[in-house]
This record gives sequence, C-alpha cells and structure tokens, in this order.
Amino acid sequence: MSENSDPHRRSFASGDVIFEQNAPGDVAYIIESGHVTVTRRWSGRTVDIASLGVGEIVGESALIDDFPRTATATATVDTEVFIVERDLLQGHLGDADPLISMLVRVLIDRLRTVQHRLVPFEDDALGFPGAERRRARRLAEPEILALGRFKREHELKRGIERGEFEVTLQPIVCLTDGRLTGFEALMVWHHPSLGRVGPGEFIDIAERSGLVRDLDDLALRSAITTLGALDARLGDPARELTVSVNLSGAHAGQEATVTRVADLLAETGAPASRITLEITESWLVSDPEAAVQTLRALKALGLRLALDDFGTGYSSLAYLHSFPLDFLKVDRGFISGLPGDDGGTRITEAIVRLAQTFGLAAIAEGIDDPGQLAALESMGCAFGQGYLFSRPLSLGDAIEYAANG
Ligand code: C2E
Ligand code: CA
Ligand code: CA
Repeated sequence: MSENSDPHRRSFASGDVIFEQNAPGDVAYIIESGHVTVTRRWSGRTVDIASLGVGEIVGESALIDDFPRTATATATVDTEVFIVERDLLQGHLGDADPLISMLVRVLIDRLRTVQHRLVPFEDDALGFPGAERRRARRLAEPEILALGRFKREHELKRGIERGEFEVTLQPIVCLTDGRLTGFEALMVWHHPSLGRVGPGEFIDIAERSGLVRDLDDLALRSAITTLGALDARLGDPARELTVSVNLSGAHAGQEATVTRVADLLAETGAPASRITLEITESWLVSDPEAAVQTLRALKALGLRLALDDFGTGYSSLAYLHSFPLDFLKVDRGFISGLPGDDGGTRITEAIVRLAQTFGLAAIAEGIDDPGQLAALESMGCAFGQGYLFSRPLSLGDAIEYAANG
C-alpha cells in the first residue's frame, strides 16, 4: 500500500490487503481503478463473496456502524480507491439539499437492513439449511437491486464526466440508387473495465436517472460537429447530407428541451434542416398534448422529425396526423424476416404505404442482407440503413465513407 498526496485517495498493489476480517472499520472505499475480491473466513474455510470493479464500493457497512469488518478485501491488481469516511459523509449530508440528504439516509438505512439479513445468509451459504438461505435472499433482493442501480448510475455519471461516451455514425442510404443521404448518431460507451458497451445496456438506466439528457445533448453536439467536418472535407456536395439524433421520451413535454436545442443551434450556427430528431411512440405515454407542443416547437426551429421503431409501441393513427413528422422508421423487427416472413412483409408494406399517405418518407432499419433490400425496393421504401451498407462508424471513418461515395 502507498500513501497518496490526496488524503482521500489510496493506492494498493496487487495482493495488498485493504482491510481484514474482524479489524475495526470506519471507512468505505470506492474503487476508482483496479479490482478487489472480498473473502470471508468461516469454520476454517475461506469463501469468495464478492468480486468488485471500478465504481463499486467496498466495506460500506462501515458507513452505518462501528462493526468489526465481516470480511477481508484484497486488491487483485494495482488498485486505486477513494476513501469515504463516515463522519465526512454525515457532514456532507448535513450540508446537502434536504431531498438528497433524505434519500441517502433512506438508502443507508436499507443497507443496514440488507446487512443484518445478509450476514446470516452468508453463513447459511456455507452449510446452513437451504430454506433459511432462500428466505434471507428473498428478503434482501429488492434492496440489493436498488443498490445495484444506484451504483450503475454513479458509474454512468462518472463515465459522462470522463468522456467515455462516443457517438458512432451509421450511414443511411437512398434505396433506389444507393446514394448516401446521411448518418444516424448512435452512442457507445468505452467502459474502463467492460470495454465497448452498446446503448441497449445503458439507455434504460440513463432514462431512469435523468442522465439521458446529457447523453442526448452530447449526441446533438456530435451531430453538429459531424456536419461541420463533412462540409470541411467535401465542400458543396456535403450540403445534402443529414445527421439523425435519437431523442429520449424523457424529453417529451419539456419546454427546457426546446430552449436547450435552440440555444445550441444559435451558438453553433448549425443548419437545423440537416438535423433529424428521432423520437419514439413512448413520447406519447404520459402527456400527449405536451409532447405535441414540444415537437411543434422543435419543428419550428427548422429541424426534421422521424418516428422511430414505428409499429412496436402505442400505435395510433391519430398522432401520425397531429405529429409534425417527416419520416417513419420501420423497425428492424419487421425487416429481419423479409422476404420470406409473411407477417413482416405485410406490416412493412402497410407502413411504407402509410408513410406515403401522410406525405412522409419511410426509412427501413437493420437491412443486413440483399434479399431484404430487394423486398424493400419492390415495396417502394425510400431509405434504409443496416449492416449490408455499413455498421456504425467512428467520425473519421464516416467522413471517409462519405468522401468515397
Ligand atoms: P435505434 O434508434 O432503433 O437504432 C438502431 C439500432 O439497430 C442500433 O443499435 C444499430 O446499431 C442497430 N442496427 C443497425 N443496422 C443493423 C443491422 O443490419 N443488423 C442489426 N442486428 N442491428 C442493426 P444500437 O446502436 O445498439 O442502439 C440501440 C438503441 O439505443 C437505438 O435504437 C436507440 O433507441 C438507442 N440509442 C442509441 N443512441 C442513443 C442516444 O444518443 N440517445 C438516446 N436517447 N437513445 C439512443
Ligand atoms: Ca433511432
Ligand atoms: Ca429503431
């Protein structure tokens, strides 16, 4: 172990013991880099009880009471931790916003309950009757899930601060002549220990925690940067190209969203007509009237709007009429079975016709083989994207893709 110049941080080398079972404990540790295993000795045996990585907390019962440590924590690689002292935490809680303070106290209280239930659970796991063990686990599960979510949100927030998110760009082409029309911005997370993580793994948590606003802002900023880079590289021909950005339903009915987008457009002088916002039917769930107002205001800024994942949500023809839309996106789920799947074929045909009826253009997503492409062409679907054309690309590769036609 080595002391750090920062009193709140400490470094451990691989194999160093961070704390030992039965030792007194008054601090917890948040792992900032590296990896820690937690083991428990019982009846002459040593059992692994946790394997913890970046963003996870170890020794957290010290935040509740002065218990002796119930387990031993060992760094398995070079590890850096942030030290959370109980007194310091209490001090911060005293100063914090009353809502935050109350929430943390409730969570700590839950942690205390979990701790009381888990200690017998661990002993059971080492040989006590199964029924007891299952009961303890069932009681503790909701709290464990709540803590897990709390931890992942923390990781996500820190990832955003540290610039671990990158916007990748998937080409969208005109299906009749194969010409590139633009790109869809898709977020990826370069996670420090998990590597590349797709949005399916984090958009949900980001939406529940409100962090999706930061991600969507980042995507919009990157879209604007992309347009600038395309113009710089290609000159006039680039002026036909657009970038689409996904806008979470968490923004529906929020006037602040309109202001943020308007400010960003004004600040960058970005060409609004070359930016498409992709929204889903989830925008309608809580307050359809407010959502329509937000969309009209976004549309008034000159942006274009696409309805994503069409047909998978709360389909209603009424809002196709009241939403100021430009594009309908046909969900990958309907495309994947083409041309053999009868249901998929009929639904896709119907969506393409519906788009035409409402004066919108259809964009098919997830086209990954030539048979699907041929089927879509014969239906008169205007645009498409998918692995057949290209996977999502880094900014540099997207610019080269556009330059090479
Ligand atoms: P989406 O908007 O429906 O995006 C299309 C998804 O299909 C992308 O997955 C894309 O990589 C994938 N895809 C495209 N072509 C093919 C293909 O030929 N075969 C297959 N198997 N897949 C294909 P991805 O990147 O995992 O994104 C998942 C979802 O996450 C997106 O679905 C979108 O709803 C959401 N998302 C991504 N970026 C953002 C963001 O910046 N903000 C918000 N709010 N949501 C985002
Ligand atoms: Ca999309
Ligand atoms: Ca979609």
